[in-house]
Amino acid sequence: MIYADNAATTRMSEAAMQTMISVMRENYGNPSSLYAFGQRSKEILEEARETVARVLGARSREIIFTGGGSESDNQAIRSAAALGREKGKMHIVSTAFEHHAVLHVLERLKKEGFEVTLVDVHSDGLVRPEEVEAALREDTCLVTVMFANNEIGTVQPIREIGEICRRRGVLFHTDAVQALGHIPVRVDDLPVDFLSASAHKFHGPKGVGFLYARQGVRLLPLIEGGAQERGRRAGTENTAGIAAMAVALQEAAEHLGERAEKTARLRDRLIRGLSEIPHCALNGDPVHRLPGNVSFCFEGIEGESLLLLLDDRGIAASSGSACTSGSLDPSHVLLAIGRVHDVAHGSLRLSIDETLTEEEADEIISSVKEVVAYLRGFSPVWRDLESGKTPHIL
Ligand SMILES: *Cc1c(COP(=O)(O)O)cnc(C)c1O
Repeated sequence: MIYADNAATTRMSEAAMQTMISVMRENYGNPSSLYAFGQRSKEILEEARETVARVLGARSREIIFTGGGSESDNQAIRSAAALGREKGKMHIVSTAFEHHAVLHVLERLKKEGFEVTLVDVHSDGLVRPEEVEAALREDTCLVTVMFANNEIGTVQPIREIGEICRRRGVLFHTDAVQALGHIPVRVDDLPVDFLSASAHKFHGPKGVGFLYARQGVRLLPLIEGGAQERGRRAGTENTAGIAAMAVALQEAAEHLGERAEKTARLRDRLIRGLSEIPHCALNGDPVHRLPGNVSFCFEGIEGESLLLLLDDRGIAASSGSACTSGSLDPSHVLLAIGRVHDVAHGSLRLSIDETLTEEEADEIISSVKEVVAYLRGFSPVWRDLESGKTPHIL
């Protein structure tokens, strides 16, 4: 199999897997237990916290372990909203192409009386900081903008947006799930108050992640119960998963530069090859994008059919995000950058890492070319486009 769906999830690193097994086997004590065996688990947990904090440029106490990216997003947004409500500030600014772990929380908050402004995303897949600033109001309690988009891979001007928020005294959250471990992300260098991350997107295990919450910024728990995570996240800690996440993050940080360079070279090879297909378009800015993201729209085909036929050839890719596949609605991200429905339906996302070989990249290119031509061969939509009955858009 050629795996080209790293934005959905990644393969666990060997070192992370070994750590996980070893902690499960040797250190199954509860970190809250007072005897030495439990305290050893507590040490493992705190060592992992220090590692994560060091990589991120944070302080240990600013890291809260969670059950993954979705939970971190929920907690940051819900906490900021609850504190905003106390002060009579019930307006939140975000963007139209956030992950559903952000958008669906905002929808829920709207039902609870909040007002939400979604700033436009331009056709290059980038948010404009000045438009975020223009959306701010006296009663804005939070701005939440993702670091890098999971479908089209565009990397947002987080520093500029953060600086605006800081100047205006508004809390700023960024969903950095796609960015962390792939491009440089340091909170000692960026004006962010909350940052969400998920281990399985950087070769760690599934079901574990963390939330960074800047010191001095109050964070309310989403899950109440015991006093774990200093009262900010109840429940017995996933010690093995957390230790493995720290190992995976450390590894990703150590190899970041070389991996990003190699991955970007393969990405650009894929982009060059696929661009030869008639009536297609790259989604998102070619420069401000993740090293591993390739996203295209092809006229006259259905992304789902393309995926299934690629699967038959042993290629695992995606159309839209994993969360929306299975539904017939086109991706909200592609609609947000201005793709019309028909074009948005014909999308393909390849998300690769540095282990892909050039031969595999070339195999992907030739397979996509063949499958797109095959599907267009019996597509009535394509026939109308080719006969001039409907005009080409791409
Ligand atoms: C995967 C992803 C999430 C969700 O993370 P989980 O750990 O799967 O809950 C949130 N945001 C973005 C941008 C993602 O890519």
